[in-house]
Amino acid sequence: MIKSLLVANRGEIACRIFRTARRMGARTVAVYSDADANARHVRAADEAWRLGPAAARDSYLNVAAVLEAARASGAEAIHPGYGFLAENAQFAAACRNADLTFVGPPPESIHAMGSKILAKLRMAAAGVPVLPGYAGEQQELAHLEAEARRLGLPLIIKPAAGGGGKGMQIVRKPAELAPALAAARRLAESAFGDGALLLERYLPAPRHVEVQVFADAHGNRIHLGERDCSIQRRHQKLIEEAPAPEVPAEVRERLRAAALVVAREIGYVGAGTVEFLFDHGEFFFMEMNTRLQVEHTVTEAVTGLDLVEWQLRVAAGETLPLAQHEIRFAGHAIEARVCAEDPARGFLPSAGRLALLEWPQSESVRVDAGFGTGDTVPDSYDSLLGKVIAAGRTREEAAARLARALDETYCAGIATNERWLARILRAPVFLEARHNIALLDEHLADFAGPAAVPPEAAILAALALHADAPAAPASPWELRDGFTPNLVTPIVYTFSVRGERVVVELEYAEGRPTGATVRGHERQSLAGVAWQPDGVAAQLGGERRFARCLSVDAHLYLWLAQEQFDFVLDDPRTHEFTATAAVGGLTTPLPGVVVAVPVAVGARVSAGDVLMVIEAMKMEHAITAPHAGTVKTLHFARGDRVPEGSELLELTPE
Ligand code: ADP
Repeated sequence: MIKSLLVANRGEIACRIFRTARRMGARTVAVYSDADANARHVRAADEAWRLGPAAARDSYLNVAAVLEAARASGAEAIHPGYGFLAENAQFAAACRNADLTFVGPPPESIHAMGSKILAKLRMAAAGVPVLPGYAGEQQELAHLEAEARRLGLPLIIKPAAGGGGKGMQIVRKPAELAPALAAARRLAESAFGDGALLLERYLPAPRHVEVQVFADAHGNRIHLGERDCSIQRRHQKLIEEAPAPEVPAEVRERLRAAALVVAREIGYVGAGTVEFLFDHGEFFFMEMNTRLQVEHTVTEAVTGLDLVEWQLRVAAGETLPLAQHEIRFAGHAIEARVCAEDPARGFLPSAGRLALLEWPQSESVRVDAGFGTGDTVPDSYDSLLGKVIAAGRTREEAAARLARALDETYCAGIATNERWLARILRAPVFLEARHNIALLDEHLADFAGPAAVPPEAAILAALALHADAPAAPASPWELRDGFTPNLVTPIVYTFSVRGERVVVELEYAEGRPTGATVRGHERQSLAGVAWQPDGVAAQLGGERRFARCLSVDAHLYLWLAQEQFDFVLDDPRTHEFTATAAVGGLTTPLPGVVVAVPVAVGARVSAGDVLMVIEAMKMEHAITAPHAGTVKTLHFARGDRVPEGSELLELTPE
């Protein structure tokens, strides 16, 4: 058995691996970058070793530093988690050379899948169905363009060395082809150090179905069923489930068999996932991920197994704990990825301190989290905060439980996506399993939630703020300005919320709130206001309502009826308003690194032209011209780091 384990990763996956390692009696070793010195995964381990500065290439991707930490700590084995070094064949080989057990497949298997091009050619040769495309050695852009013309549109361009949906481009119109190839090449080079691209026919509305496989070093190979990961935004999985719904039994068997062929072809050992696109009853091999996946939890829920335990056993040279016929599948499980990104601002990643992050605690719900209240989300890594997984006897039951669990997830201080995920889980298109990978990109607006702010929410926000007034808790009214006994005295609060200006007038009589009017709405009577440690309750009209609240600086975060609101007090001393209004201009909405500046000083541009591309939290964000004009000055160049809110360039209007 492995006695000491270093996890070369961070966030939820490091915490999750430590949990199993600990249960199995292993000593746990964390590594961290300067941005993560106080992170949860550092606290979760028995000991922790510094790798280097925040940038991933100086820390979590720094092979020498990771190996040195293993040596210094005396760790016997390294688990790479997912991302970072997980699919780096050189790293796996370096571990082997340093006499460390790499918890993953042999370097040769990683290498065989490291290039989507080589993997596709090889699997096609082994008889696994693949989509038509170009997977060739000739990589000059002109040649790719010619191949693309031959293939026809729509098509998808993928970095051969890519992962995580990064850098992929879909081409629907001939005019988009050349720029898309150039952009894909640039991203492939900067992100993966390899510009090779794969072209493939683009299926407009398939589902993503993948098979979990497991193999040991003694020639045993089994599958643990399939997962559906079709709820994606820009090719990033957001909601995953097991089993995959609506796959005919006969297709399911062929799919599982094909996955085992893939694993056999490359001499696979350990946990792996073979990904397919499923379309009109047919499936096509996409790639194999030679590691544990984010969504392994739903497989664990329906099989009752601990995949990390299996990984550690297989890495220690044991045989697979169970044979294929001993694997039982029961019920349904769904996972949602809670990410630090803002659905209201085009899913821009958000970073900073979590004033609150409270995870749900309910039966049949599992939470794998890397962050909690008080933690800081750095801007250097991906945006996953944690995963909420719900199990049920049926798909409907699991979906309902998960939606409810997301309602009971409370996050404030930075923007997160859990309310939006809950809306998807309640949407008929998902519940009836009519979804596919294009759903979110094509119907994003359907899940935006109500635009209007319910007057009740605004009234409760005003009441909650009132509790914050520096007054004796027993009678918070007595010290308020403008309070006159026996007189109805309105106090006015102006908020900015969801891009709206909302004015609330609270009326008081004899020191108690008796009524409230949100401008533009009818007056509501108020009674029985009660301030609780986590919110405020009141009788509004006839009904008694409770809103969970948290006030942080000028923000009053409020949760009511499955929705979260961020009320910003319109105080002229805080300039939150203008800060938000600047988004979409020539300032960067988030801190990051300039990865491209396609224009030069003096260039004439039209509205919508890309002026600069910023990369932050593993995503590219294009800064486009708000109007036609001439580029006057560029304040940053390629490679520069830009702090949030920086003005990037000046554009003289036409
Ligand atoms: P990565 O390794 O970057 O995750 P994949 O090849 O696994 O890249 O593809 C990721 C996602 O991109 C898939 O889940 C799917 O949504 C989409 N995708 C990939 N290939 C195609 C295709 N040929 N047609 C339509 N969508 C595709």
